[in-house]
Amino acid sequence: MAKPSLKVSAKASAKVRRLAHGADPATPTPKVGFVSLGCPKALVDSERIITKLRSEGYTIARDYSGADVVVVNTCGFLDSAKKESLDAIGEAMNANGRVIVTGCFGVEENRIREAHPGVLAVTGPHQYEQVVEAVHDAVPPLHDPYVDLVPAEGLRLTPRHYAYLKISEGCNNRCSFCIIPSLRGDLASRPSNHVMSEAERLVKAGVKELLVISQDTSAYGLDLKYAESPWKGAPLKARFLDLSRALGELGVWVRMHYVYPYPHVDDVIPLMAEGKILPYLDIPFQHASPAVLKAMRRPAAQEKTAERIRRWREVCPDLAIRSTFIVGFPGETEEDFAFLLDWLKEAGINRAGCFKYEAVEGAKANALEGAVPDEVKEERWHRFMAAQKDVSSAQLESKVGSVIDVLVDEVDEEGAIARSKWDAPEIDGNVFLNGDVQAKPGDMLRVKVAAAGDYDLWAARVAPDA
Ligand code: SF4
Repeated sequence: MAKPSLKVSAKASAKVRRLAHGADPATPTPKVGFVSLGCPKALVDSERIITKLRSEGYTIARDYSGADVVVVNTCGFLDSAKKESLDAIGEAMNANGRVIVTGCFGVEENRIREAHPGVLAVTGPHQYEQVVEAVHDAVPPLHDPYVDLVPAEGLRLTPRHYAYLKISEGCNNRCSFCIIPSLRGDLASRPSNHVMSEAERLVKAGVKELLVISQDTSAYGLDLKYAESPWKGAPLKARFLDLSRALGELGVWVRMHYVYPYPHVDDVIPLMAEGKILPYLDIPFQHASPAVLKAMRRPAAQEKTAERIRRWREVCPDLAIRSTFIVGFPGETEEDFAFLLDWLKEAGINRAGCFKYEAVEGAKANALEGAVPDEVKEERWHRFMAAQKDVSSAQLESKVGSVIDVLVDEVDEEGAIARSKWDAPEIDGNVFLNGDVQAKPGDMLRVKVAAAGDYDLWAARVAPDA
């Protein structure tokens, strides 16, 4: 049950890297290998591409050697992510030799071709059709009605019991350190009934937890002027509150990621208090000092967030806030940093990941003065993590003795690894059920918390009505 206790994560570093599988290796159909890097949004893109390919009769290879061609879905958010993408392309080139590159880093085709001249094709983010066409060129599809069949909910790279639900693409904000709007464009929301149809299909297929993602979930529908679309015989607005309410009727865990603390988010908190959606908000604050937030050009930077969170917790006392932060942003002074540490404690941020500022090619922040030396960034990062550990361990200690519901993710010979409603998969903590080898992934269990660590809990099963 050994698990790293220190968790450093953020949307851009919540990496998912795996070769998708699920096909019968014995079938003579064309086989595609798939490597998915980057954030959950990129993962959803991968799922769409794989779903399309499977619907055309391709099977997904279990390893490089069994693949006729390999698609690498890259991340281009940070320079370190770009390096990882180049390494992954290199690995696929060495192991297979027939490689198609897609995803955020695909906008830098020259750089990719310079490093790996032999790649077959390079496409950018959301260019699903171009990726599929590139696969057709490399390995023509086999037309067979029996292998064209895919499950109604599509094919997913996540375990069967949870799924990411992407509600929009792009972003209208222009944070100075970020190049995502230039990679993915302005906000483009999906109609509410499309989102709900997908969510319902996923639930019918056995999903117990929906993780709502986008670049700016609280801005959902702004571009559509909150247009209504028909859902279950009634109009449903493309608006954060209306969508949250509708998702809350599906009877599964609904977790909100990438929300900004705008005033209208207040209206969603009662749904959390009622148990309709999870008492969890992933808000990438990035900093707390007004001067740094202004230089970052962050959305909702002018809101008094610690005060807002305090009021949210009056309505929903067990609300967990997860966030990511950047230390060492250009111009960040020791006072700014001290302000951030105080704010972290005042706001009671339950889960936090921290990045040392990294200049991203093409970002406006590169022109800012006041670069922070690397050793100062390093020192602040350690101080940040220590402060966050104190906040997290105190909050988790307060759960000892309580009875909570958990969702089981994995079971091994030592027991079950589960999550509470305050923990998102891959980025937050776990609840370990030592010795509980009877549980199965996807089980929803009632447990009593026996012990707490800095980031994780240990618990044992109790009767469902306890
Ligand atoms: S909100 Fe800011 S950091 Fe997030 S995608 Fe939009 S521009 Fe980038």
